[in-house]
Amino acid sequence: MTDVTFAALGVAEPILRALAAENYTHPTPIQARAIPALLAGRDLLGIAQTGTGKTAAFGLPLLQKLSIGHVPPRPREAKALILAPTRELAVQIEDSLRIYGRFLNLKRAVILGGVSQNAQINAMKNGVDILVATPGRLLDLVQQKHIRLDTVQVFIVDEADRMLDMGFIRDVRKIVAHLPKARQSMLFSATMPDDIVKLVGDMLKSPERIEVTPQGRTADRIEQKLYYVPMPQKRQLLSVLLKDEAMNRVIVFTRTKHGANRVSEHLSKSGVVAEPIHGNKSQNARQRALEMFRTGKARVLVATDIAARGIDIDDISHVINFELPNEPESYVHRIGRTARAGGEGIAISFCDASERDYLRDIERLTRNKITVVPHDLPELTEAQKAQAEEQRRPHGHRHGKPHGHKGHKSGKPGGQGQPAKKRNGARAHWHRKRDAA
Ligand code: AMP
Repeated sequence: MTDVTFAALGVAEPILRALAAENYTHPTPIQARAIPALLAGRDLLGIAQTGTGKTAAFGLPLLQKLSIGHVPPRPREAKALILAPTRELAVQIEDSLRIYGRFLNLKRAVILGGVSQNAQINAMKNGVDILVATPGRLLDLVQQKHIRLDTVQVFIVDEADRMLDMGFIRDVRKIVAHLPKARQSMLFSATMPDDIVKLVGDMLKSPERIEVTPQGRTADRIEQKLYYVPMPQKRQLLSVLLKDEAMNRVIVFTRTKHGANRVSEHLSKSGVVAEPIHGNKSQNARQRALEMFRTGKARVLVATDIAARGIDIDDISHVINFELPNEPESYVHRIGRTARAGGEGIAISFCDASERDYLRDIERLTRNKITVVPHDLPELTEAQKAQAEEQRRPHGHRHGKPHGHKGHKSGKPGGQGQPAKKRNGARAHWHRKRDAA
């Protein structure tokens, strides 16, 4: 948080009242810098991830601009257009704008894929002040002439790097081609891959550039821990950790949808209320899962990376990486779900032999060596050993050598007959033989 006030940044009275009702006493750093620049009409490049307060950073000046001298929108037009990569983020942005703009009389609509288009066409019939949309469905409706974009005054792209990951950049460019040249534009992205740098060059005019967390850096307020644990013992470790009542609002990340279902079922069977959220779930099921989690009815949300994008829930006590992500940037995004809005958080990662390359990439990107914590799980049972061995086989680790493993002659990690160590898991199990020797 900063020392300035929203009023000092030029935010107008009806919005100040809404902020006070939300207990936003001071702007976050990105807000303190973005709001004056945007009120002055500048374009903006925001290098920031969720949790920094970026929605209000662009949302407050947007609401203010649209409310001054407000005239009702014309049929099928949107005066402001906000693009988001996922449905959850779009819904959430709309929700935030409703809250910040509750004392203003502005019309909003959300356009999303995966649901019937009729209600969306209806919502656009008389035009809106603010339209929040995912790119694919928006283009559809523009092409069907249910929406016109030639009068957009303010254009915002949120989580541009995620748009790129999800293959939406071409759609974004097509949308830009429908916009008038004279407009205010903003782009937010947590990272700046080349394609986004290029999009920024094409889309923004001498933008104010605001970077809040250095690229790939994780927030200092997040305590990060790592357990070396073979896959067959991960669920067991998860159950042990969840005995700690301090873990009251936990997101568990898996790499696959199937994995999310399985972990969620395992937890439910063991008496922990858990909800899975991933791309195979209907929009309604996803919203329901989020609501259960938000209201505390579900203690654990088990999520895949894409489904978790844009989840904005405060007070998440722990993020658990049940499986490490194969893209290191996803690690930064995942753990950024905790320690939001100035709070503190804990991120715990499980790493098995096949994930060591991922771990190395993460530590390289974040320039941080994650603290390894030992666990007290018993040695693997014969069945678990067989399972672990089986998992290694398809990756070509027939001799038990995990990825990236160099210079260790003996090739039987977790091998049979090795003496049990007191602090199981203090080092990767593929090193234990050497420790014991
Ligand atoms: P965002 O990065 O926009 O997703 O915002 C992250 C979280 O911070 C959201 O839950 C907001 O409600 C909250 N937030 C944003 N700005 C402020 C502020 N100035 N004071 C307190 N909370 C804030």
